[in-house]
Amino acid sequence: MRARVAIIGAGIAGFAAGLACRQLDVEFQLFDAAADPLAGGAAITLWPNALRALSELGMRDLGSGLAANAITHGGIATERAAVLYELPLVWMRKQYGYFPVCVRRDVLLFAMYKALLRPTIARARVQRVFAQTDGAMVEGSHGRLAYDAAVIADGIHSQARHDICPVQPRPTRYTAWRGIAQGPVVDPATMWEYWGEGVRFGYASISPHATYWFATVNDRLLGGQDAGWDVARRLFAGFPPPVRACIAATPDADVLRHRVQDLPPGCPLAQGRIVLMGDAAHAITPNLGFGGALAVEDAATWLRAVRNVGVSPAAFRIYAAQRRRRVREMAYVTRQFGDVMQWQNQGMIHMRNGLFRIAAPMAGRLLWRRLLGSTGRP
Ligand SMILES: Cc1cc2nc3c(=O)[nH]c(=O)nc-3n(C[C@H](O)[C@H](O)[C@H](O)COP(=O)(O)OP(=O)(O)OC[C@H]3O[C@@H](n4cnc5c(N)ncnc54)[C@H](O)[C@@H]3O)c2cc1C
Repeated sequence: MRARVAIIGAGIAGFAAGLACRQLDVEFQLFDAAADPLAGGAAITLWPNALRALSELGMRDLGSGLAANAITHGGIATERAAVLYELPLVWMRKQYGYFPVCVRRDVLLFAMYKALLRPTIARARVQRVFAQTDGAMVEGSHGRLAYDAAVIADGIHSQARHDICPVQPRPTRYTAWRGIAQGPVVDPATMWEYWGEGVRFGYASISPHATYWFATVNDRLLGGQDAGWDVARRLFAGFPPPVRACIAATPDADVLRHRVQDLPPGCPLAQGRIVLMGDAAHAITPNLGFGGALAVEDAATWLRAVRNVGVSPAAFRIYAAQRRRRVREMAYVTRQFGDVMQWQNQGMIHMRNGLFRIAAPMAGRLLWRRLLGSTGRP
């Protein structure tokens, strides 16, 4: 008999887990509390590791489909547009087979949903998932249902992980805003990030007609944690023209606000026949744009483990062992980078920028190898 797996959450992690089930010919049931889980969000950058993992999960065409809008040039600059570092994107393409791409979240989710053959997503708020001798029990607004296994993928505020890992998100001292600017506001195929004093602005081209952007601001500069975009946007008035163009081409009402937070590292990634994936397991700060990528890497790793050992606690333990170090390292690196990138003191910023200009080209590839995971083409 085919194994039946419950997947809690129909976001990037849940859909990636569904894709793994499809590859394994395992039956799955998705649950989501939202009325339309495919809608909403802004966009995300998919680095080569994400495209490679999606390819392993059966979405081989995604990378090539998005290749027309691949990002081939970009880097980091000061708020006065002095270049600190150019991203080694051609090297990345050679080494990993892909340039990065930026894609609207709803477009990515719909592509994954289509690749899953448009499964039914049960509308239910799952409150508890717990291990049983031969499976997992899923309890919530739908009642109680037993499965052979369960994947917990209900995001950073996961209720379902509570029995396995009862942690709360950890705050940072900055807030992020995100938007999609319409029209040809920046050079196509580029991504840049500008560092100011306690403020940062980054953008990535989605297509010649749309640009994803984010802005992060220290709470100290906002006069409180609840300040809105109307307050934050003023801090970018002196930033280079592409920044001002992105802001001008995005209606204020469409700008999304997020308190930046992550999960304290160390959640067990498996218990019996239950695994945790994506932000429910290891939400990281979005400073380097790798949270979604880690979710699809999770599913690709789980796929390999289950392919070798079957839907069994042994496979789930292998998955956990193979992911533990990677997700812990990424949580640490992204949080540390974020703190340094948000520095506000002028002397420290001067020193940081000088060091970064010299060290980043030398150490950059080493760091990228760590960020992108194992080397080699798909
Ligand atoms: C500002 C910002 C910028 C980012 N930029 C990038 C980027 O450029 N690149 C990148 O790779 N990542 C980026 N990320 C991270 C990325 O968006 C997340 O890591 C990723 O979306 C997590 O996916 P997920 O499926 O684990 O969780 P989610 O997307 O949160 O999905 C969880 C799903 O579970 C459902 N759910 C919640 N509770 C329940 C419940 N009790 N019962 C049933 N269903 C439930 C929700 O409705 C939702 O559909 C960014 C994040 C932020 C905040």
